[in-house]
Amino acid sequence: MPNPYKTREGGATVTVFVPYDCRNNCPFCINKPEYADMRGFSLKKICKSIERMDKITPRCDFVFTGGEPMANLDSLQVMLDKIPNTHRVFINTTLPVYPGETEEDVLGFLERNKDKITCINISRHMQKYVEESPDEMIGRLPIPRRINCVLYKKYPSEKLPAFVERWKGTGASVQFRYDYTDTTPETLYREEDDHILHDLKKYFTYKGLDGCRMRNGYHFEHDGMEITYHKTLPYSTIVETDENGVTYDILYDIIIKQNGDIHSDWTGVPLDVKRYRKVVFEPNDQKWLERC
Ligand code: SF4
Repeated sequence: MPNPYKTREGGATVTVFVPYDCRNNCPFCINKPEYADMRGFSLKKICKSIERMDKITPRCDFVFTGGEPMANLDSLQVMLDKIPNTHRVFINTTLPVYPGETEEDVLGFLERNKDKITCINISRHMQKYVEESPDEMIGRLPIPRRINCVLYKKYPSEKLPAFVERWKGTGASVQFRYDYTDTTPETLYREEDDHILHDLKKYFTYKGLDGCRMRNGYHFEHDGMEITYHKTLPYSTIVETDENGVTYDILYDIIIKQNGDIHSDWTGVPLDVKRYRKVVFEPNDQKWLERC
């Protein structure tokens, strides 16, 4: 007998992999191989899966990722239109401006969808991996925005303050991210040998730590700017037995793949949708663990 599912109030976050690619080749990207062969990708099937998940958890968060969600604004609009306003919606993007599409086209799209999109998470790294739109454009976005920066291998730590200051005046917060493929339950909260944490504490004012069994965030401040350092495990299911002896698969993320298949984890495990309809909810376990 498979374990029943459990998730937090509102439902597991649903991450949608868009059925079209980006034009970058970041060295830490684990999604790129999936976009090498686009046979079977289906906007129609993705939309059906969005509708299924909305019916089961009408208040869960949706995240669009890729590939590049904003590489095809017409398709992104079709998917966004499937999501009622009961959900928070996040878009992970490099905010590209491709030939044939102007800055104004992108800004117009975001303006039209500003009541639907909760926050746009824009990838910018200390080494230049992605095709970038002008920084000034980020200051003109009509929606909340965050810069996501993966601190990969030997990043130039002395340039951290300049990197943060680059976004001053754009209204963006900055989130530094650990390469999650390297995170384990043992290292998630281990601080002694976390050189990124040490670098950030050296340059910025530490404000506190929040987290749960799956992920955490170290919070900093610099000249009025909000900075976080995010760590997460490379999988999203935790198996746990409760005080009554019932063992649950506790789901944090659900994934809609490019072909519309629904998975219960990043590791390729299909979601048993029938079982998820009977999911048990627990209080959100994300909480402040330290505050300065
Ligand atoms: S932009 Fe995103 S999807 Fe594209 S290569 Fe970089 S990490 Fe991968």
